Amino acid sequence: MDYDKVFADSLEQLKAAGNYREFTDLERHAGQYPRATNHSIGREITIWCNNDYLGMGQHRDVADAICNTVREIGAGAGGTRNIAGTSHPLVELEAELSSLHNKEAALVFTSGYVTNSTALSTLGRIPGMVLFSDSLNHASMIEGVRFGKCERHIFRHNDLDHLEELLESVDADRAKLIAFESVYSMDGDIGPIKEICDLAEKYNALTYLDEVHAVGLYGESGGGVAQRDGVSDRVDIIQGTMGKAFGLIGGYIASTSLLVDYVRSFGSGFIFTTAMTPATAAGALASIRHVRQNVGLRIALHSNVNTLKSRIREEGLPLKETPTHIIPVMVRDANLCREASHKLLHEHGIFVQHINHPTVPVGQERLRITPTPLHTNDMIEELVAALIDVFDSLGIKRDK
Ligand SMILES: *Cc1c(COP(=O)(O)O)cnc(C)c1O
Repeated sequence: MDYDKVFADSLEQLKAAGNYREFTDLERHAGQYPRATNHSIGREITIWCNNDYLGMGQHRDVADAICNTVREIGAGAGGTRNIAGTSHPLVELEAELSSLHNKEAALVFTSGYVTNSTALSTLGRIPGMVLFSDSLNHASMIEGVRFGKCERHIFRHNDLDHLEELLESVDADRAKLIAFESVYSMDGDIGPIKEICDLAEKYNALTYLDEVHAVGLYGESGGGVAQRDGVSDRVDIIQGTMGKAFGLIGGYIASTSLLVDYVRSFGSGFIFTTAMTPATAAGALASIRHVRQNVGLRIALHSNVNTLKSRIREEGLPLKETPTHIIPVMVRDANLCREASHKLLHEHGIFVQHINHPTVPVGQERLRITPTPLHTNDMIEELVAALIDVFDSLGIKRDK
């Protein structure tokens, strides 16, 4: 067996299909977000596609909490929570998260991905469980649903009739769980949380809501879309990340004490891995406390989002309308999309990663733009001018 050939051939195929991923070598500068040095091309750039939606990854309170904790407690966690004990900042972080979502308890994992994969697969092993999963759910939820090894049904994206049809087809006595998202990260649309909770009630199913792209950004204290819509109490399990609006890393579920204890006690991806470092937990705690109290951050974010959307509309750039902070500008061609992103970077110093298949379906290629409260009006104008220049020079149609 020529292993090198296997690897090389597979990579060649990926490249030929235009799906090979190249990473940009970036150095952000604390205090100057969204500016950064791009070492791949050796120039200063403005970032427009980061999921550090509020710039909290560079906030002073967060950096101080991390540095102080490393000095006071040390760097590593020293093992799993069972073997090495739970560091105190992690206990405080879980208390903060359960209070953010007004739930009895929360459980922290090493990432949002691990959270979905572990929590869903563990719940999937409840005897007789049937999982119902939205067709556009994130890869980590798909993995969790598959690892659950139970009966599963995929319902068409946000399609309540299809979901009900599937719920109806399953024996009323069986355990059921509906897994879906609040903000879908690529189309920037929102799941019908209230209506799915209504169905869950009717068919006695649990609800599992991924609020990864919403925590920190929606709701009066950043508790997500469920908080904003006043339906948090109806969702059984809220899942979130510390990797996006909170600017760090780590994931969690918030739910009842019993359900959290169940996942804590049976979830392999929770039990058999080294715990989050105390410093990361302390940093996340500082970030969440700041974000909860600072409504101004959310107001500034959504104001920048609205300004940029209306400028894009005015210039006839192909905006996909969304009710969220995610701004897809459609190119609908893989090569043009890659070229647009390349030109923005090399000719304008603007970093917007192109989003191609398999992240989005073929023909749905786009630039996914995510403003933060730290982008200025000048930066918005600079971005719009660069988009016009690039779209016109590549012959991508504008309605103007
Ligand atoms: C990013 C993402 C995750 C994974 O979270 P990480 O903390 O980055 O591992 C889960 N769900 C959705 C919808 C995501 O976009």
